[in-house]
Amino acid sequence: MYQLKNLECIKKKIAAISNSIKIIVVTKGQPMEVIQPIIKTGHLHYGENRIQEAMVKWKNIIAVNTNINLHLIGHLQTNKVKEAVNLFNYIHTLDSEKLAKLLSAEEEKKNKRIKYFIQINIGNETQKTGIKIEHVSEFKEYCLNSLKLNVIGLMCIPPAKGDSSFFFNKLLAIAKEENLSELSMGMSDDYETATQYGTTYLRIGRAIFSEHSQ
Ligand SMILES: *Cc1c(COP(=O)(O)O)cnc(C)c1O
Repeated sequence: MYQLKNLECIKKKIAAISNSIKIIVVTKGQPMEVIQPIIKTGHLHYGENRIQEAMVKWKNIIAVNTNINLHLIGHLQTNKVKEAVNLFNYIHTLDSEKLAKLLSAEEEKKNKRIKYFIQINIGNETQKTGIKIEHVSEFKEYCLNSLKLNVIGLMCIPPAKGDSSFFFNKLLAIAKEENLSELSMGMSDDYETATQYGTTYLRIGRAIFSEHSQ
């Protein structure tokens, strides 16, 4: 089973660098048949980017496998907050005041605590969501102090064209300044680079689910 081999190979590479980096297996677009063998190995972190797809695929599985952590890595629309709080353990895309307020209210209602990454628009790209660098500090204080959200770190998706290392280094510097210990950065094409800049959560899809990726 190629997906197990791919993941094993990535895990070995990462373990040689650090034992505190978690690999989020990004399962968006993948059917349960190819995910199940990975679940059987005991892997605990999975990422999805759409609420509806995530509910259909994971609802029954997480009811049985209560150790599994589900990560929302895609943009969250304010009308899907209820479902998101029900399903996910981590949200990597906290990106507006309005969303933060709704999440805080929903957490209180359900008495559930989610771990959050603030998504930063690290390349200052008009087409991307995320908090602008100059607003990070204020937004973080608001989420932590006014809303009591459990913000653990920062997340970014570097511009498609360009050197990821420049943006990873930037995110690392901001996280240090803001006293946040976790970093969600690094995907299939740049996860090894991300390990050089202190990433703690890698989000990897294609490198695991492509048959000939290694
Ligand atoms: C799809 C996706 C990933 C995984 O990307 P791959 O290139 O398949 O590894 C990581 N992060 C986000 C936000 C994604 O949408």
